[in-house]
Amino acid sequence: MSRVYNFCAGPAALPEAVLQQAQNELLDWQGKGLSVMEMSHRSDEFTGIAAEAEQNLRDLLSIPNNYKVLFMQGGASQQFAQIPLNFLTDGACADYIDTGIWSRKSIEEASRFGNINIAASAKKYDYFAIPGQNEWELSKDAAYVHYASNETIGGLQFDWVPETGDVPLIVDMSSDILSKQLDVSRYGMIYAGAQKNIGPSGLVVAIVREDLLGKARASCPTMLNYQVAADNSSMYNTPPTFSWYLSGLVFKWLKEQGGVAAMEQRNRAKQELLYKAIDDSSFYNNPVSANARSWMNVPFRLADAQLDKAFLAGADERGLLNLKGHRSVGGMRASIYNAVSLEAVEALVAYMQEFEKEHA
Ligand SMILES: *Cc1c(COP(=O)(O)O)cnc(C)c1O
Repeated sequence: MSRVYNFCAGPAALPEAVLQQAQNELLDWQGKGLSVMEMSHRSDEFTGIAAEAEQNLRDLLSIPNNYKVLFMQGGASQQFAQIPLNFLTDGACADYIDTGIWSRKSIEEASRFGNINIAASAKKYDYFAIPGQNEWELSKDAAYVHYASNETIGGLQFDWVPETGDVPLIVDMSSDILSKQLDVSRYGMIYAGAQKNIGPSGLVVAIVREDLLGKARASCPTMLNYQVAADNSSMYNTPPTFSWYLSGLVFKWLKEQGGVAAMEQRNRAKQELLYKAIDDSSFYNNPVSANARSWMNVPFRLADAQLDKAFLAGADERGLLNLKGHRSVGGMRASIYNAVSLEAVEALVAYMQEFEKEHA
């Protein structure tokens, strides 16, 4: 068996040790004679798996006791509707920050449910920089402020946390949760689709401050109501048990690696190496301003787009996979989530330098 270096934006690379463990216990989980996939979600075995996953996530992020951790379906995109249904009462308004494709999708969806004010937009910087908070025009009476901490497609990441006073701050952390240390208490709600930095697709994790629960509009479907999810330990209906289990293995793996602080150190080194390789050459280019560059998703262009095909073909030959940029942006993109090793980034940089020598 040979495993490639996978730079996919999502579903993304998973730690090999986690896949190995899942394989070892696929047919017979811990001597019980059945697979996790075949267990009742109400069984002692599965409720144990679920509780342990939650506890490990709580430990990793030091989640305070007054926050619920919810494991739901529908991906991050469903949250774009769920958030206004739960927090935006009829006639109320919410502030949204536009920094790219994902935040624009969240704005589009929320606009179906209420008054959405775009308090700041990176558009004026061609989405290559994030407007500072002094440029934001927040409403006085917003129900919440929403932003995406990392724009997975544009490669634009906040390196600061917005200050919103008493107004709850809600963040889409789909592509950078668990990559850097973070102070959960600054947020009303944090959510993340699992398939970037947590586990397999089919699962979205939300961390919600308790006092925000119970205010969903009457028309909110039961399945989309956070209070219902919280009251039922995320098991109002059958949850995506295998994704939950596998995410739990990833949380355990993260703890073994030294937790989020250790991942932050590794991720810092990985992105430094890659951006340095890009900046040191006139053959590759990344247009994002230095303090807004994503540590997780690094888009870059070749000086001559006609070489893109050859670059990707050569990369594939070397086992460097999924480097093609998003169809809306073109060029290349290397997603270097927690499960992508420094070794993988070194191999990519070596290939980039070799390719440049041949073609510059
Ligand atoms: C991938 C992604 C989403 C969408 O996630 P789905 O789980 O596919 O709905 C939303 N926001 C960000 C920042 C993402 O990276």
